[in-house]
Amino acid sequence: MTTAKMRLRDLMILAGVASLLACGSALAASAPTPEARTAARFDAVVHDRAQLRLFLKAMPKGGDLHNHLWGVPYAEDFLAWAGEAGQCVTAAQKPAIVGGPCDGVGKVAAKDLGSRDLALYNRAIDALSVRNYATGAEGAAASGHDQFFATFGRFAASAVGNMGPMIAVTREYAAGDHVSYVESSSNPNAMRAFAVAGQGVWDGEFEHSLARLTPGLPAMVVDTRREMDAALAEADRRQGCEPGAAAKAGPCQVVLGFQSFVERAQPPGFVFAQMLAAFALVEGDPRFVGVNIVNPEDDPTSLADYSLHMRMFQFLAARYPKVKLALHAGELTLGLTSPRDLTFHIREAVEVAGAKRIGHGVDIAYEDNAPALLARMARDHVAVEINLTSNDVILGVKGADHPLTLYRKAGVPVVLSTDDEGVSRIDMTQEYLRAATEHGLRYADLKAAARDSLEYAFLPGDSLWASKGAPTPACAKAGPACEAFLAQSPKAALQWRLERDFDAFERSMARP
Ligand SMILES: [Zn+2]
Repeated sequence: MTTAKMRLRDLMILAGVASLLACGSALAASAPTPEARTAARFDAVVHDRAQLRLFLKAMPKGGDLHNHLWGVPYAEDFLAWAGEAGQCVTAAQKPAIVGGPCDGVGKVAAKDLGSRDLALYNRAIDALSVRNYATGAEGAAASGHDQFFATFGRFAASAVGNMGPMIAVTREYAAGDHVSYVESSSNPNAMRAFAVAGQGVWDGEFEHSLARLTPGLPAMVVDTRREMDAALAEADRRQGCEPGAAAKAGPCQVVLGFQSFVERAQPPGFVFAQMLAAFALVEGDPRFVGVNIVNPEDDPTSLADYSLHMRMFQFLAARYPKVKLALHAGELTLGLTSPRDLTFHIREAVEVAGAKRIGHGVDIAYEDNAPALLARMARDHVAVEINLTSNDVILGVKGADHPLTLYRKAGVPVVLSTDDEGVSRIDMTQEYLRAATEHGLRYADLKAAARDSLEYAFLPGDSLWASKGAPTPACAKAGPACEAFLAQSPKAALQWRLERDFDAFERSMARP
């Protein structure tokens, strides 16, 4: 991660932002500030979705903290890469991407498929995403949940080995959405290979298993670092972002942090080895900033081993105390699982595993003593990553059934994120739009969520903010002290950039 070079004008903007925050009420009494006029503009367009979209698209949004690298590319991207690689599309009711050679009958060449067989191309896009699933399109599963998770296996052949192109589209889509930071779950192949090779070591004893697996970690980190070097170089090459290239706006300016992750539907031996590798990767490669856990939470193995997994996190977190956890927890709802599975997942993720952020948290209202859990999350600043479209498609939870308002009323920090924008065929702007139209968030609420998306990011460095609305003393006024502070903190540097972007956005919106 690079720290943006500051210019005097930018420092002046920051100082201006700070002073506006400090004496906003006095200013509001005389003339509307650009922020107030922007909020009024939002209120004027909130019931017109096309105008609201224009507004929200241009709005700076900070970070996307819940993002899966494999879930970002659209089906069209995967099909294009499959075409480049000489891969094929199965001529099945539910087409999948598979390796070559293609035979033109059961395995049709992916290259230029859209111009040769439009029906198969469209069927493939439906099968590789949730497009048209609700209308019962041919090849679609009966439920959004099943359709969603089935897509990953169908495009896997085009995802494995394409980390570079996937990083490139992640930056492209983020830049288009005015998202400056993405925290993306992504496991290098060597990391998963470590779990495959080490899964037999598990004997139910944490200490003993750890001791037997530890000698293999340094070589794993060397291999994964090499993979990441190559993937990032490939992404830079595709987007003209190589070091030394003329500084480009857009995708090259998007900062990425990666999360290594654990596959919770795998057996305990695999999970333990992979979890250890995930922690070691964060410790050994600064491009990895946190650890997550994925796979359907309602999978029978995920459910049966849930508490065991949380104890594994607790055990390894004690050995890697600097590694931060953002855990999928509570991506469940009544009817999907038995009621008892809804009562403790978020609590154990917070209290046993020590998660700093919760992914989804949809079933919070079903947790035992949910008010106390919400109060603890608010007190300890455990943020919740809200994925409105994903929750609608996978769980059927939306609108007044969704706990977004419950979290906000409890004072839990809330961030908006995409989860799997390509599979869901959405973008970050769409999630902001849903928050506004389905949950009544206004401009100030969305701006606070954007700020929190950097405040609760696992970026290294101290925050720009000493408390809500008050910059850290070094940046209370423009000058070398603030410049020095931002230079040593990638987090504060991005937060400063967000304030600068808000300043420009609000000035543009305030123009008559
Ligand atoms: Zn997710």
